[in-house]
Amino acid sequence: MKKERTLVLIKPDGVQRSLIGEIIKRYERSGLKLAGMKMVVSTAEHIEKHYTVDPEWRRITGEKTIKSYKDKGLQPPSEDPLVITDILLGNLKKYMASGPVIAMVWQGVHAVKIVRKITGGTEPLTSDVGTIRGDFVLDSYQLSDADGRAVRNLIHASGSVDEAEKEISLWFKPEEIINYRLVQEQILYDVNLDGILE
Ligand code: ADP
Ligand code: MG
Repeated sequence: MKKERTLVLIKPDGVQRSLIGEIIKRYERSGLKLAGMKMVVSTAEHIEKHYTVDPEWRRITGEKTIKSYKDKGLQPPSEDPLVITDILLGNLKKYMASGPVIAMVWQGVHAVKIVRKITGGTEPLTSDVGTIRGDFVLDSYQLSDADGRAVRNLIHASGSVDEAEKEISLWFKPEEIINYRLVQEQILYDVNLDGILE
């Protein structure tokens, strides 16, 4: 459990907004361990693979978008989730390959869920205050759809342990992920906290 891993990407808008340090700080202070990190410029082909490692992604993301429109009393651009994500995938390729991204692997207990919590919900308009997406950006599905582009929300974070494993192998070679000990892990995980008092 303590070795669960998740993939985080600081998307091109996060790099351009000079938020690399701020974003890393928020994950780092949670107690999770950074196990790999690099700056890369991606390609459209790589981004398509990244978003389709989960065969359910097209349906789930389409349904999530339709629900979000209806919750606000608005008409979704289509009633068919797959039509929505076909368009979205094209826009994501342009967005995610438009400049450098920072790719990171974070490791620790509940890494996937802790990172999603710190990151916040997909649409910045409704992401909680205190999350990265809620605090540092202001986009919405309505604006991005009107402008024919993907929602700019600074970060990608894996949605499940299974998705994380597939995504990590897409972005990192095994030798780029480092196994090492952080001294704070003793305080986070040890059963007895022995060795503090002299
Ligand atoms: P998350 O990044 O929170 O896991 P998804 O996997 O559902 O979200 O979607 C991937 C990315 O596609 C989002 O981070 C966002 O940039 C973009 N996106 C998702 N839904 C929409 C939408 N309806 N309109 C525009 N962009 C979207
Ligand atoms: Mg996702």
